[in-house]
Amino acid sequence: MKKVLVFLMTAIMACSLLLTGCGGEEKKAEPAKVLRVGTEPAFAPFEFPKEGSSELTGFDVELIQAIGKQLGYKVEVSGMGFDALIPALNAGNIDAAIAGMTITDERKKAVTFSDPYYTSGLIVMVKKDNAAVKSIDDLKGKRIAAQIGTTGEMKARSVEGATVTTFNTQDEAALELKNGGVDAVIGDLPVMEYYLAKGGNKFAMTVGEKMEAEQYGIAVKKDSKLAAELNKGMEELKKNGEFDKLYKKWFGEAKK
Ligand code: GLN
Repeated sequence: MKKVLVFLMTAIMACSLLLTGCGGEEKKAEPAKVLRVGTEPAFAPFEFPKEGSSELTGFDVELIQAIGKQLGYKVEVSGMGFDALIPALNAGNIDAAIAGMTITDERKKAVTFSDPYYTSGLIVMVKKDNAAVKSIDDLKGKRIAAQIGTTGEMKARSVEGATVTTFNTQDEAALELKNGGVDAVIGDLPVMEYYLAKGGNKFAMTVGEKMEAEQYGIAVKKDSKLAAELNKGMEELKKNGEFDKLYKKWFGEAKK
């Protein structure tokens, strides 16, 4: 027994000597694990550049940074088109995508989602002087703009006889409305509301009720264990109050 112990001790000492390079140099700190995150950076208040800078901010950006910190990751966020996010996950170019992405059955075939973190929904936006459109039911045969690859585009395409034009960002879709190229935009309610509050209300307004609830989730490569890890990090942030703090900061109220 004693012999075994001595052997073990010697082995451990030899190992640690090897690790320190035998010369007694200071042990270098482990490089932080990197979490490569993709987003579509024109989706305020979830992800958008800080004023006068290319650095991104927003609820999603701060949430993934907080989750990463919780799990010991160095988070690197890069921007790309919304429709490029899922291909980038599948190609292994990013580890996670956070982009106000609605959890849908269709997308679940291609990627795995974290637990939902925000309840959203779609809404119709028209010009302020448009008295004819009160809801999506009045858009039959009309011209609708939406952001490419989004649930807004899918909804627009379900409207009978409508001509749908897609844009890279929701802002560009809104600009088309302003220019009179379309009769309406269909997109995510919180993003539309933010847009209107930031000056869009000079020419536009939302009409009708928020369409059915949609849940945002963080997407990872199909079946990746990272989803469970991210959920664990998010759970911690919910327990320690940080999630609520972020939610209040960006939406002015606690999550319902
Ligand atoms: N929530 C919408 C979707 O998932 C739009 C997301 C976005 O444009 N960033 O399709």
